Amino acid sequence: MEKYIGAHVAVEGGVASAPLNARAIGAGAFALFTRNPSRWRSEPLLPSEIDAFKRNCEECGYSAAQILAHDSYLINLGAKDPKKLFLSRTAFLDEMERCEQLGLTMLNFHPGSHLNEMSPEECLDRIADSINKTLDATTGVKAVIENTAGQGSNLGYSFEQIAHIIDRIEDKSRVGVCIDSCHAYAAGYDLATDEGYAAMWNEFDRVIGLKYLSGMHLNDSKKGLGSHVDRHESMGKGAIGMRFFELLMADKRMNGIPLILETPDPSLWAEEIAVLYRLAGGEGKP
Ligand SMILES: [Zn+2]
Ligand SMILES: [Zn+2]
Repeated sequence: MEKYIGAHVAVEGGVASAPLNARAIGAGAFALFTRNPSRWRSEPLLPSEIDAFKRNCEECGYSAAQILAHDSYLINLGAKDPKKLFLSRTAFLDEMERCEQLGLTMLNFHPGSHLNEMSPEECLDRIADSINKTLDATTGVKAVIENTAGQGSNLGYSFEQIAHIIDRIEDKSRVGVCIDSCHAYAAGYDLATDEGYAAMWNEFDRVIGLKYLSGMHLNDSKKGLGSHVDRHESMGKGAIGMRFFELLMADKRMNGIPLILETPDPSLWAEEIAVLYRLAGGEGKP
C-alpha cells in the first residue's frame, strides 16, 4: 500500500479532462465534480464522455481507489422543507448514478444543515434516511460523509454526529468518512500538534471506527482552532502549519485512500503534492 496524493481538479470541457489535469500536476489521486456543483439540473453524461473518462483514467494510471467524487454544494440531505428535500435526494441519486456510470466507487458529500428548523438529532436522522434511500437505489458506490467546520447550522462537525448517521445506515459496507483537516481544526480538533494529532485519531477510532476512513481533504486553515469558520489555506501557510502534514505523510493509516488537496491556490498544487510525496518518503509517487 502506498499514499495516493492529489487535488480536486477542474473539469472544464468535461469529466474526461480530470485525469489529465491530475497527471499534469504529478498527482496520485484526484477529486472531481461530475456535474455543475452550483446548479440543481445537469445534462446526463454522454456515453462518449464516459468512455473518454475511463480511457484517460486507465492511461494515466488512476484506479477507482484513487478517485473521490465530490457532490454539489446545493444538496441538503437533512432539509425539512419537502421540496428542498426532494430536490436534494433527486440530485444526490443522480450524483451516485453518475459515479456508477464512470466506474467510481466513492462519493464524498457534506451531511446537511438543520437551518434552525429542527433539532440536530432530527436532522441527522433525516440525513441517514436520505442515504439509505439512495444506497437502496444504486450499487457499488460508497457514500462518504465529510466532516464539517460546523459553520452556521451545518452538521457533521463532531465525530459523534458522524457516528449518529452511520449507526442508522442499513448497509454499513457502503458508508465511509472523509476527514477535512481544515474543517476538523475549525471544529476544535487540534491536529496541529503531535499530541493533538494522536488524540484525534484515537477519538475517531473510538467514536466512529478507523475502518470507515475512506479519504482525506488536506487543507491548512485561515482561521483558528475551534473557530467554526471554513476557510482553506495553502499547505503550511495557515493556523495548522506543516507539522500536521508531516505526521499525516508518516502515518500508514493514510495508505490506500485518496488524500486530496483543496487548497486555494491551484498554481501551488504541483509543488504541494511534490512536498507531500517527499514527506511520505516517495511511497506511491506516480
Ligand atoms: Zn473538504
Ligand atoms: Zn471547506
